[in-house]
Amino acid sequence: MAEKFVQEMMAAYGTNPKDIVAAIGPSIGKCCFQVDDPVVNLFRKQIAFAEDIIFDDPTEEGKYKIDLWETNRRLLAEMGVENIEISGLCTMCDTERFYSHRKMRENRGVMAGVMTLL
Ligand SMILES: [Zn+2]
Repeated sequence: MAEKFVQEMMAAYGTNPKDIVAAIGPSIGKCCFQVDDPVVNLFRKQIAFAEDIIFDDPTEEGKYKIDLWETNRRLLAEMGVENIEISGLCTMCDTERFYSHRKMRENRGVMAGVMTLL
């Protein structure tokens, strides 16, 4: 998603990735993003550095944790984006401030991100 967005900006506006300021907002952290084999296999197929962002989950046999923040940071960096902020706020850990589908299921609202061209 982040990669595609940068590609689109480059094509549409001639954007230099070095001029992009990217923010990875509140979202599920590697503390909580537990997945199993099908998801891990998909990441291994699609992401060249998969082994750097997939970890065994010691709390449950056959489960893994994936670091999506680092995944997006690396994908953006590979595109040449240098200014990348990571909020470090996990939506599943902090349901006082954020909605989490994994934790709250149907009993949740939605969140929005806002982007602008300067
Ligand atoms: Zn968490």
